[in-house]
Parts: sequence; structure tokens; C-alpha cells
Amino acid sequence: MPALAPFRQPYYGTSVFRIGDQLAEIIAVGEAMQRALALLEGGDVVAIPTETVYGLAGDATNGVAVARIFEAKGRPRFNPLIAHVADLAMADRIALFDPLSSRLAAAFWPGPLTLVLPQRAENGIHPLVTAGLGTIALRMPRGFGGELIARLGRPLAAPSANSSGRISATTAQAVAADLGGRIRLVVDGGATPVGVESTIVKVEDGKLRLLRPGGIAAGEIEAVAGAKMLRGATGIEAPGMLASHYAPGASMRLNAERVGVDEALLAFGPSRAEGWRQAVALKNLSEVGDLREAAANLFSYMQALDRSGAASIAVEPVPFDGLGEAINDRLARAAAPRDKIA
Ligand code: AMP
Ligand code: MG
Repeated sequence: MPALAPFRQPYYGTSVFRIGDQLAEIIAVGEAMQRALALLEGGDVVAIPTETVYGLAGDATNGVAVARIFEAKGRPRFNPLIAHVADLAMADRIALFDPLSSRLAAAFWPGPLTLVLPQRAENGIHPLVTAGLGTIALRMPRGFGGELIARLGRPLAAPSANSSGRISATTAQAVAADLGGRIRLVVDGGATPVGVESTIVKVEDGKLRLLRPGGIAAGEIEAVAGAKMLRGATGIEAPGMLASHYAPGASMRLNAERVGVDEALLAFGPSRAEGWRQAVALKNLSEVGDLREAAANLFSYMQALDRSGAASIAVEPVPFDGLGEAINDRLARAAAPRDKIA
């Protein structure tokens, strides 16, 4: 990646940040609403300020937009993202609140608290947001993000706006320096006040578990809950540890050159594996071989082929470049022997 020109701070108003022949505009919050809305409506991603850190946001109901988030971050895995809502009514349409979660939402939203909750059926959330899980991580952000979501009328999926493996960005300039060549717009709201990610909690059998410490101290949450929290993820929740949860009932056979008897076929691209006509069910991740489209289709197509009742799913080779790495990671987990899955 070419070196960036030194950046002067503070930065006001509209400017263009140029990397190679790509552009990421930096627009101050006061002027950015319409441009951000237009990009999100078109299924593109936008970096936005929140009270925690800058988020790389995309329409949580649009699989291609969510795939673009993973692509821009260069994430090698599809871990579940936090869905951001504008108000409690939107949150209620997406997830099922138990009384304790409702109490915490009332106390801390909008704010840096994320609640993991069971999803409602047919809530419109694309399965790539939750990595196919039955639960969803929800948060109501303060300020520009909240207003943007209210105007859009749909939730936004948003992990931190940084390349995979780098630290979270707390200024628009840091976002632009990192992702400027891969996204079109950074909304500049100045330095983020909290500066660390949200605290993530989940109610399990009436007990509260701290899944990730963050912007709200555990003690503050415990004071509202009236009880100590359990600590540590239960294994399923940590990013990359979700294998058993994703595993289909059918066995998976990767890089299949031909389709066997009683097999379903998960295809990719324009040319088919030998014997494809005998497949008991067939889904093509992307007829034209587009990895973004393939990522968007991955979870729902695996589930659909699993429902076909086939004992085995043959999977055509998927290239490893770009989003292909995360797609192959996911496929490899699904194909792993079940007793090896953590
Ligand atoms: P990030 O968006 O990068 O701040 O990371 C989101 C965090 O939320 C990750 O640590 C995920 O493991 C966690 N997370 C998201 N969805 C869920 C879920 N359904 N259950 C448990 N943890 C989740
Ligand atoms: Mg992050």
C-alpha cells in the first residue's frame, strides 16, 4: 500500500483522502447525513463515529453490504457482528428481551452496552451478521450513529473500523489512514469519547454473563442487575470458536471435483463439478464467481442444503483471495470431524 501524506489535525469540513486512485471522503458529522444514507441505501459501507470507537457500518439486512464489511476489514473469519439499532422498538422487532435485559437496556441505552439476545424469527437480519447463530448482539449507539439508523429505518451491522488485527480507530483520520483505500466515506465526529469497545453481556437462565469487558464498567452493570456477573465466554461466543454452532447435520466434502450418490452440491462459479445433475439439491454461491455474493449467500445456502436431507454436501473449490479466505475458513470448520470441533 502506498505511503500516505502526513495528516494535519484538527480536521474540519469536507476533504478527500487519496490513496492510489481510490478516494475516501472525510465529511464532518454536520454535513454527512445525506451522503451516508445514500451509500447505505446502495448497499455500501460507511465509517461512522460512535461513542465507543469508529464503526464500519453496513445495512444489517443486506448480505452484500455485510460481506463488504468483512472485505474492507480483511477479516479472515466470519465472526458475528454487533447490530446497532435506533430505539427500543427496533430492538424489539429483532430480538426477544427477558426482563433483566430490558432493565439493562433501559439503564444503559443509548450507550456502550451490547446485549446478546435470542433472535426473533423473520427479523430481516442477514445471517452473515450473526454468522448463522440463533442469537444476536444488539446495541443502541449515541449521536450520529443513532440518528443515521433512525433515518435509514434499518439496523446497521458495525464492527470497529480498522483492518483485521489492527487496533480500533478512535479518530476519522486513523480510519482513513487504515481503510481509506477501501471505503468511500468516513464521517468525522472528532475523537470518540469512550475510546474502547462496548461491554458485551448475555443473560443465561436468569444469570448475567460478561462476554467482553468494555466501555461500561462491570460494577455499574452489576449495580443495576443487583447481582454479580458470571465471567468468561462459554466457548461458543468467542469469535472463531463458533464451529460447533455452525456445523450442519450433513457432512461436508470440500474441493469436490465430482458429486457422489445422494449428495447435495454447494457450487461456486460458472462451471460445475462432474456429475452435478445427480445432486439431490444444488445451490450456487455465485454463478459469476463473485466472492462478495458468495459470502452473502454462504450461511443461508449451507442451511438450505442441510434441510434437503442429503447425508453429505459436496462443495466446489472456492478461491482463497479476498473474502475467499473467510469463506474457506467457514467451510473448513463445517467439514471438520465433529469430535474435533471446540
Ligand atoms: P466487534 O464488532 O469487532 O466489536 O466484535 C463483536 C463481538 O461481539 C465479538 O466479540 C463477538 O464474538 C461478539 N458477538 C457478536 N454476536 C454475538 C452472539 N450472537 N453471541 C455472542 N457473542 C457475540
Ligand atoms: Mg475490533
